[in-house]
Amino acid sequence: MSRHPLLFEGAARRDVLARAIAIVDAYLGEVGQGEGQVGPPAEPGAVRAYVESLSFEHPRAPDEALEHLAEGLRRFQVHVAHPRYFGLFNPAPATMAIAGDVIAAGFNPQLATWSHSPMACEIERFLAAELGARFGYDDVEGTFASGGAEANHTALLVALGEAFPEVAREGLRAAPGSPVFYLSAEAHHSFQKAARMSGLGEVAVRPVEVDAASRMRVEALEARIAADRADGLAPFLVVATAGTTSSGAIDPLPTIAEVAERQGLWFHVDAAWGGAAALVPELAPALAGIERSDSLTFDAHKWLSVPMGAGLFLTRRRGALGRTFGTRAPYMPRPVADVDDPYGSSMQWSRRFIGAKLYLTLAVAGWEGYAAALRHQAQMADRLRHALPDQGWDVVNDTPLPIVCFDDPKLAANRAVTFAAWVQRSGRAWISSTRLAGRSVLRACVTHAGTGPDDIDALLDTLARARRALERQTV
Ligand SMILES: *Cc1c(COP(=O)(O)O)cnc(C)c1O
Repeated sequence: MSRHPLLFEGAARRDVLARAIAIVDAYLGEVGQGEGQVGPPAEPGAVRAYVESLSFEHPRAPDEALEHLAEGLRRFQVHVAHPRYFGLFNPAPATMAIAGDVIAAGFNPQLATWSHSPMACEIERFLAAELGARFGYDDVEGTFASGGAEANHTALLVALGEAFPEVAREGLRAAPGSPVFYLSAEAHHSFQKAARMSGLGEVAVRPVEVDAASRMRVEALEARIAADRADGLAPFLVVATAGTTSSGAIDPLPTIAEVAERQGLWFHVDAAWGGAAALVPELAPALAGIERSDSLTFDAHKWLSVPMGAGLFLTRRRGALGRTFGTRAPYMPRPVADVDDPYGSSMQWSRRFIGAKLYLTLAVAGWEGYAAALRHQAQMADRLRHALPDQGWDVVNDTPLPIVCFDDPKLAANRAVTFAAWVQRSGRAWISSTRLAGRSVLRACVTHAGTGPDDIDALLDTLARARRALERQTV
């Protein structure tokens, strides 16, 4: 019996899906074991040749195609599921979340309208309400997004529309002066992109200087707002970061909330990674003041270990999303009474069921399971933080979150970049470098919920080797 080219049935479908799951299971079992490298070196020519070795003129058997993809991924990617990956905020995916993503792909609910996907829409509404309550919001509306960048872009558009309702129809020319917004010099660069995409331009982004711990200096914020108003500009938004990407710094949220309230500005908190601290009783106080924000960004695909992409924009200003994105189209199904259609409250139109993976993970881990996993990661970072000085490193960031930045003042400028590259090439661990206060520093973030004391010790050992190797090179 010949197979349909797209829609397999019976044993043919079962075999392919079972094979795909078996591949994922084998990968996750082997990725942290033996001599496997965390970040195998990749040469663009070799990767391209591998990709193009498969021809669409000569289709392959399903098993062969699956194996080809899996083998390529094994060889050519940084393995974020490796417990010695201490990199950007990319997690080892939670098991229930992988299952949720498979089910979401198979059922393929359309989250443009409620009437097409009542179950999926209500799950996402429930998740937004539950998470909003964790952040101390009294009322919550939200939308899932591809990631933090889209959630931040959403925040900018919502804040702009709420400040200057005429802009939606008339464009920026209708605003009373050039709209500008404030964030710290350590804020995420997705706001630069959002400023460009919104037509405000990068000049609208007003970076505010930070203190020695990378936190926004609130006096500098107030001074900058006053100067801009005196120049006839139109401030409308202040963004605080709760967990900067470089060093996990948390801006002083309560004082920024006061400034925003006094100045009549929308207050957004970018808690893309650090927001997860709200789920851990002893870390949550670090986020005090977030409940006063008008909106926030939170990424489940970072510290909550959900596979990409799973961003979330939450607001306690009911109706703001609908005012920003609401529209009607004759080809769309008629709305159901008393419920909102997601396409009228988000940037996306057709949208995948992002909430499934978080819903299933929470259903099985519960809040307590999450708290335990996050607490463990914070403890592993503490272990690293406390051991580094014995090797001659200075810890240069100050945060309760599991991210450690370190430097050796005796190293020449930019030596951290070489150091990180040596560690990456060694394949034993993966760390990165960043800039803090004008200096290159090393950065290690515990992103894997299963990273244990042995992995921290292995990282310390790799750093010691790197130091010996690089010292030999410089003599
Ligand atoms: C990661 C990050 C973002 C961007 O989020 P994506 O999910 O990568 O789009 C925004 N803000 C902060 C603070 C982040 O750490």
